[in-house]
Amino acid sequence: MDRSLQVTVWNEYRHEREEERFAKIYPEGIHGAIAAGLREHSDLVVRTATLDEAEHGLSPAALDTTDVLLWWGHKAHDAVDDETVARVQARVLAGMGLIVLHSGHFSKIFKRLMGTSCDLKWREAGDRERLWVVDPGHPIAAGLGEYIQLDQEEMYGEHFDIPPPEALVFVSWFSGGEVFRSGCCYTRGAGKIFYFRPGHESHPTYFQPDVRRVVANAVRWAAAEDLPRRTFGNVPPLETV
Ligand code: ZN
Repeated sequence: MDRSLQVTVWNEYRHEREEERFAKIYPEGIHGAIAAGLREHSDLVVRTATLDEAEHGLSPAALDTTDVLLWWGHKAHDAVDDETVARVQARVLAGMGLIVLHSGHFSKIFKRLMGTSCDLKWREAGDRERLWVVDPGHPIAAGLGEYIQLDQEEMYGEHFDIPPPEALVFVSWFSGGEVFRSGCCYTRGAGKIFYFRPGHESHPTYFQPDVRRVVANAVRWAAAEDLPRRTFGNVPPLETV
């Protein structure tokens, strides 16, 4: 890509401030670790935003200048105000990319964009996870091997109540026996959406090189390029009618 992309990494940022055991893993916050991974790429201009900032760090001006938004939330989904959710949704429909991470499956914005419960099975037992690349030609899988292995992660299991993904890039296997659709692509309006499963707050997943590669690949995939202007409503005819 020959232009720089404006990326906003949004994190609820409560676990890491409230409990020492999470702060030890993510001293700069989960958003800090994700942003650091993205800043390894010179074409990405990265800022962060968190729930407790004014307007959750997602003012109209901030969203208008964001090409791709990443979303990590867990315990405070309900604290995100509906006006902000509506603003993010409108930006996605107009072409902003959205990457929803891990427990963001239950965020207001993801549920609204999917239209289903987005519920799933889970277990915090340090399962081993293998994310198998099931669509090796997909740009989000570029540079990976056959699978990504994470020695300890939270388990998410099927059934995952989402609409059928338009492309499925990863399927996870867990040592407890479950499987999960862990890399799911969608379009809504002019916007591209990617859901990526790993990233529990008690494991250093966002420092893992392959995970960082997927997140960076997903940012580039989700970014819109030169979208035609979208016009709605009553219009005069172009020809004599
Ligand atoms: Zn989790």
